[in-house]
Amino acid sequence: MKADNSHFPGSIIYGPVKSRRLGNSLGINLLPVGCKVCSLNCTYCQYGWTDTHTINKNELGRVRFPGVQEVITAIEGVLHRIKTPLDCLTFSGYGEPTLHPQFNEIIKQTKDLRDRYSKDHNFPPIPIVVISNSTNIENAREGLQLADVRAMKLDACEENIFNEINKPAEGVSLDDIVKNLKTLKDIIIQSMFLETNISDSAIEKWIDCIAEIKPLEVQIYTLDRMPADLNLKALDKSVLKDIACKLTKKTGIKVTAF
Ligand code: SF4
Repeated sequence: MKADNSHFPGSIIYGPVKSRRLGNSLGINLLPVGCKVCSLNCTYCQYGWTDTHTINKNELGRVRFPGVQEVITAIEGVLHRIKTPLDCLTFSGYGEPTLHPQFNEIIKQTKDLRDRYSKDHNFPPIPIVVISNSTNIENAREGLQLADVRAMKLDACEENIFNEINKPAEGVSLDDIVKNLKTLKDIIIQSMFLETNISDSAIEKWIDCIAEIKPLEVQIYTLDRMPADLNLKALDKSVLKDIACKLTKKTGIKVTAF
């Protein structure tokens, strides 16, 4: 397991990070640096345990998120400085990006900036990617749909396993997650597999949910970086391949195992 910190957001902008799934990705962190804000507290999180564990608007109102203009100025500065060609601009970072109260406006302004930059430099537009834990779709719908790629987390579809692996904040419901995922267009589902969520019944339920959600693609993976819970172990790649085969056989949906 890697112990490098190159993927850790030290400010609004981090990277470019070489990602197995995204290529050369410029990371954009909408969360306060050094304080993980998330509506989940996943046992496998590479950023450790969640500091501010909530989806409650009043509690989020007390978090010092970066302002819209601060984010846009930071992205603009990097776009003008950077020499490496970028494969994408990725909203991810130190927690859940859609919890930023002005997430929709930030995506809208980033898209305008990206389009101007592309026109001025005669480059193809750099895709805007959002990596989300799927818990705040109702509030972030506009921004999510404006992005070019929506990579949405769904690790388990049984309540007890979801609670164990993702440890949701009060007010987060698995039923709502699945219901809302069905309403988003053209999504990628990303699922982490560990010993906790690979029983026959867990996989069967997960496949049934994926069949209902109908994503464009599913990406599955196991531990690759230091997790919050140090007792977790990565699965053998053959287990992922087996899960991928079962999903494709039942649904015909494209699956990539990383
Ligand atoms: S949703 Fe992402 S940031 Fe939040 S705890 Fe899980 S892995 Fe970490």
